[in-house]
Amino acid sequence: MRTPLIAGNWKLHKTPREAVAWFTDFRAALADHPHDRIEVALGVPATHLPGLAPLAGPAGVALAGQDLSRHDDGAHTGEIAGAMLADAGATYVIVGHSERRADHAETDAVVRDKVAAARRAGLTPILCIGEVEAERDAGRAEAVVLDQLRAALDGLEADADCAALVVAYEPVWAIGTGRTATADDAQTMSAAIRGALREARPALADDVRILYGGSMKPANAAELLAQADVDGGLIGGASLDVDALLAIVDAGQAAA
Ligand code: PEP
Repeated sequence: MRTPLIAGNWKLHKTPREAVAWFTDFRAALADHPHDRIEVALGVPATHLPGLAPLAGPAGVALAGQDLSRHDDGAHTGEIAGAMLADAGATYVIVGHSERRADHAETDAVVRDKVAAARRAGLTPILCIGEVEAERDAGRAEAVVLDQLRAALDGLEADADCAALVVAYEPVWAIGTGRTATADDAQTMSAAIRGALREARPALADDVRILYGGSMKPANAAELLAQADVDGGLIGGASLDVDALLAIVDAGQAAA
């Protein structure tokens, strides 16, 4: 019913030329890793999209931007609009990553506007939500995560836009730290997210993909991806390594 999505997030790594060389190796190896039951995507810096697009399409790999402007155009120096990402080859865009919420003071209202901007550009938003460690320790993880979700849903009026959403549950304390949520914790939070989606859009909740993100790697991917409400992964560090990403692709295909 839901096609699992294995999505890499390269963050601020590689130059455009290095990206093409990496992808050339990845594409050659991917041919020996069946992935017909899943989708594979790579979130890359916007400068990398034009070079990767001609390679990614034929390899059946989707491309994602890592952020977009909430504006469609205008006097916003340094911003990149959704339509620009789409024209350069992206079909997905990561929105509200915790590194942007923390480093660039992205509020829930900004994230809501960016999710809406992504849909206006025809991009599929990968909405990142997740609690920080102090919030988990205080027993507030679910409340924080569902508040972030509901705020973003406010930006999506049409059912079709809501159905197109991908949600990534990313506990902030697990991102780039090597610590991973247990499979049970990932499932419990993903089920809570689906429950909140069901309250907001009863007919669509079962179509929305919910990814887990936070130090997913070959050693833990199979267990995380086997959870009923975990429909894939958003993978940072491990997605920079061809063999590690391929191992996670294998785990996704096996779980699908
Ligand atoms: C991420 O960047 O979204 C992420 C989950 O990173 P890592 O896999 O490195 O924790």
